[in-house]
Parts: sequence; structure tokens; C-alpha cells
Amino acid sequence: MPSTTSKREGDSMYDVIVVGTGFGGLTAGAVLAKKGYRVLTLEAANELGGSAGKFDRNGFRFAAGATVGMGFEQGGVFSKLFEELEVSPPTMSKLDPIMNVYLPDRDVTYYADQDKWYKEAGRVFGQGENIQAFFNEVFSVADRLYPFIDRKVVFPPATMGEWKNIVSSINLHTLSVAPFVTQSVHDRLKKYDLHRNQPFLTFLNGQLMDSVQTTSEYSPSLLGYMALSVFHRGAFYVQGGLASIIDTLSDTLLHHGGELKKRTRVDSIQRKANSWEVKTKRRDTFDAKHLIVNAPLHNIFSLLSEEDASSLPVKREKEEQQRSWGAFTLYIGADERFLDDSEANIPFHQFIGDYEKPLSEGNQFLFSVSQPGDPLFAPPGKRAITLSTHTEPHQWWNRDQYESLKEQYVERIVGQIEKKFPLFSDHIETLLPGTPVTFQRFTQRRKGLVGGYAPTSKYSLLKAYSPNSRLDGLWFCGDTVFPGAGSLGSSLSGWTVASEIQKGR
Ligand SMILES: Cc1cc2nc3c(=O)[nH]c(=O)nc-3n(C[C@H](O)[C@H](O)[C@H](O)COP(=O)(O)OP(=O)(O)OC[C@H]3O[C@@H](n4cnc5c(N)ncnc54)[C@H](O)[C@@H]3O)c2cc1C
Repeated sequence: MPSTTSKREGDSMYDVIVVGTGFGGLTAGAVLAKKGYRVLTLEAANELGGSAGKFDRNGFRFAAGATVGMGFEQGGVFSKLFEELEVSPPTMSKLDPIMNVYLPDRDVTYYADQDKWYKEAGRVFGQGENIQAFFNEVFSVADRLYPFIDRKVVFPPATMGEWKNIVSSINLHTLSVAPFVTQSVHDRLKKYDLHRNQPFLTFLNGQLMDSVQTTSEYSPSLLGYMALSVFHRGAFYVQGGLASIIDTLSDTLLHHGGELKKRTRVDSIQRKANSWEVKTKRRDTFDAKHLIVNAPLHNIFSLLSEEDASSLPVKREKEEQQRSWGAFTLYIGADERFLDDSEANIPFHQFIGDYEKPLSEGNQFLFSVSQPGDPLFAPPGKRAITLSTHTEPHQWWNRDQYESLKEQYVERIVGQIEKKFPLFSDHIETLLPGTPVTFQRFTQRRKGLVGGYAPTSKYSLLKAYSPNSRLDGLWFCGDTVFPGAGSLGSSLSGWTVASEIQKGR
């Protein structure tokens, strides 16, 4: 229950403290503030939103990382969240086509509409009937899982309450997906004889890399199917980028009396008798009954005391062995004349350069272009572009090779773009590279590890970390806990934590 004490100026005891304003933290903070909890949110950076934030430079606004909106279709996670918060979502348009994908030897238009997509996929990849049958399975399995996800279950469960919530969310319909639990997406592709269709497989792997963070071989089928179905439910171009959603969530938090302090880095958190104490870099101290950490679990061991950390089910050695990607990004302000008329209104373009190389390090990247009539991003006639590719994070922490590595990546990627947009270089006005070092600096993510954990086997889903830390009053949310990566997953974990706190658990 929220405290009944009225808020006093300078009082450092809160019902809830949230560390971080990513999708997870702001969702939890906004929901709890609306329910009457006294919420304090602390953010290390000058900008809100972490991986989904933005920054302004040289007359352009750039999305820091995330660009594609999801979950705003009727019945979608964000539609329901915004209904609960009683606020309108920012201006956005539903996309169909979702994006253009440029493979080494062919282009494909990825349609949201299923019939259009089957036709296009059959035309570009062949095996049209097999592709249709495979996607029908994807949609059918995902449809059976959505009601389960909607229940905001804590997974993996540990308490009676959590088990009860899971058991009551399962019916015969959900149970029928059980055989998929032990299969990867690749296992299913074999069933449809699609695993040897290299262009289709590469296309599919490209989509999985950007959502599940791994390819079909390592992607649990349930996770992969949910991710593949999401775009067909609704992919969105959000005016001003996903930062506009972040702004709406923070406005809601403030509107309901929540407090938000930017440029306030939390340096340590400590368990007290009945509360959690938070100490900031500037040596301020705050206390709360509930503490929600929206920093990734990669950071948790530098925040907790040895004693508290040793009581966590998350173990440092294991966590550090988990596989996570870094991101190499390019933020480019350009004159729009590099685009043909046919591409002028397509915000998302995925490039894949070589079938034989891994889908990272610039061989695959998402090129997100602000749209005409979106003044939040760029002046008329100009476009703000955020481009991102997965990268092995460790290589970026060697000072001696840092600058030359950056140059190599810029050259490789711009060369790739010019194969599609030959006039691109001539129209660049601003170009800023971002690396894992940049992500650590601006989003606090240790070693620049982003996007949650990359599954390494078909059983990875079962090894997810719970949002419940198992230490009384300490909660986690964001892309390193269940249900995982992306704005949708992070927000859902924050919403789950808010629900659990309201239940008094
Ligand atoms: C390049 C890239 C592209 C992506 N593209 C998409 C996409 O198109 N669509 C999509 O849905 N998702 C995308 N994602 C994934 C998505 O952005 C993330 O999964 C999601 O935004 C993570 O949210 P989070 O809640 O984990 O918080 P984070 O984004 O990690 O934010 C956490 C916040 O906490 C703050 N913080 C951390 N530690 C402290 C501390 N000690 N004290 C105070 N504050 C602290 C940080 O400064 C940060 O603001 C992308 C990610 C990247 C990196």
C-alpha cells in the first residue's frame, strides 16, 4: 500500500525509489505514482530514456539507440499501459511496409499485412507455400502466448503467489505450445524445409538479431515467434522517436506527484532494517521501502554491498559469463536529396552485406531515417539518421586501436550504404560515431553491453532472471530481466514490478 503520510519537502523517505529512466524504470514509476505511491526517480544522465533516449546536436535530434515503435496496436502492451495511465500516446503512424531489407543479391519489402508478405516472400525467396506455413505457425503460437504475457507474470517463479499467477494464466490453449519449449527457431525451419534457403534464412536471422539478439539456431522458438509476430501486429514510426514515449511516461510520473532528478548517479544501494538506502555520487542519501533498479544486471554488483550481493540468486561469475552484444552506432544529419522519391517515406532500412559473414560488425545494420514532416528530428529538407550494428563489445576497450577501429567501421558502413544510395556521402552534414564506450558513458551500461542477454541455446528462456531480486523490497526491471530485450519487454518488466508492489509482495 502507498504510504498515507503526506509528502514533506526535504523528506528523504519514499515509498519507492527507481534508479534509471529507461522504459522499465519509467513504466514502473509512472504506474506507481498514478496509484498514489510516493515515487522518486533518479537518473544519472542529462537525458531520459537510456538506450531509447535521444540527444540534440548541430540542429538535429538523434535517437540514441531504439527507433522502431511496437505495442501500440489495439490490445498491444503500450496501448493497454497508456489506457491504465489515462494518457494519449505520442503521434505515430503504423507502418506497412515495415521496412526495406537489402540482401547481398536481392531486395525484399517486409510487409506487415500477412497476405502481401506471403506474396512478396514467395516472389523474392521462392518456397512461398513453405514460408506461408511457417509464418502461420509463428502467428498461431504467438497468439496462444499473448494472454500469458498479458498476465504480467514473474518468471521464473519462486513464491507461492508467483506460482499461482503462472498456473492461473495457463489454459489448454497455452499448454498446446509446450512442444515448442524444447525447440529452436531453426528446428522449426527444418520442419518446413526452409533451413537451406539461404536468402530467406539470412532475412529471418536479420530480423531475429534485431529483436532476440541471436540467430535462428540459438533462438528459443517461443521467444523467436513472439518477436517475429510483433511487427505484423504493429510496427510504428513515432514522431520524435521513442524518446517521445519516454517523455509521455515521465510527464505522467510528474503529473501524479512523482519526483525525478536528472544528473543524479546512484553509487551504492544498501539494505537497512525495513528499507533500502540509496547514496548518490553527490553524497545525497534517500530511503524507500521498495527500490526498483532499472540499471542492467551487468551493473548490480558495483551497486550492492558484498553481503547483499551474495544473497542474490544472480551470481556475479555466472552473470559475467552471459553473452551480450555491444552496439556500434552512427548518428548522421543529412540533406534528404540522397533519397530517391520511392524511398523518401520509408523510415526503416535493413542492410545485409554478405551471406557468409556473421550478422554483426557492420555486415548487418538498421538504418533509421526521420520522416518528412517530423520537425522534432530535423529542419525541412534534412533527415536525422540513427544507424546501429551489433558489435563484440570487448574489442572497443583497447585504447590503442579505438580510433582506427572507429574509422574502419565508418568506412565499411558508409561504403555499404552507398551501394544503395550512391549520393549519400555528398549529402552528409554531421556524422557522429557511437561505440560501447559511448554507451557506457551516456547510458551507464557496464562495458557498453546493450539489449539484454543474447540467447545461447533453445533453453535460454528458462534461464531468464526474475524481476524479483528475492531480497525483500528490491526489484529489477529492464532488458536484462524477464521478459527481456526491447522497449516492449523492458516496459513489461517495469509494469510487472509495479503490479507486484501493489499486491504487497
Ligand atoms: C542500438 C540499439 C537499437 C535498439 N533498437 C530498438 C528498437 O528499434 N526498438 C525497441 O523496442 N528496442 C530497441 N532496442 C532495445 C531497447 O532500446 C532497450 O532494450 C530498452 O530501451 C532498454 O530499457 P531499460 O529499461 O533496460 O533501460 P536502459 O535503456 O538501460 O536505461 C536505464 C537508465 O538508467 C540509468 N542508470 C543506470 N545506472 C544508473 C545509476 N547508477 N544511477 C542513476 N541512473 C542510472 C541510465 O542512465 C539509463 O538512462 C535497441 C537498443 C539499442 C542499444
